[in-house]
Amino acid sequence: MGCVFCEIIQGRREAHFVYRGERVVAFLDKYPLYVGHTLVVPVEHYRDVTDTPDDVLAEMFALAKKLVVALRKSLGAPGVRLVVNNGAAAGQVIFHVHMHVIPYGVEKAWRRPLDPEEGERIARRIRDALQGA
Ligand SMILES: [Zn+2]
Repeated sequence: MGCVFCEIIQGRREAHFVYRGERVVAFLDKYPLYVGHTLVVPVEHYRDVTDTPDDVLAEMFALAKKLVVALRKSLGAPGVRLVVNNGAAAGQVIFHVHMHVIPYGVEKAWRRPLDPEEGERIARRIRDALQGA
């Protein structure tokens, strides 16, 4: 079906994971706005929030909450924005529902493609911080 996020979750495409749960995962955005820009994604494929079960949305939000703490701790981000784009008109590009967890007050990344080494280094810092969150 050609979904980039399903391919990442199934291990057929590379990404820097910061969390892997049974129903929800998180990995770094490949084109980050700011260093540490993370995506929270359900394992099951849903198009947007309207077809995602409430309990899955709740898990996504609970993980995003932990990521806010982890991004403050690991990257020193004073602010973190949580965003879900629903529909192309709202800026949704990948039609597998996801929440952007974007740290602010850290280095701006300008949507340049994530360098693999940098990605792994940042993902490790966030993973370590998540374990304590
Ligand atoms: Zn998908």
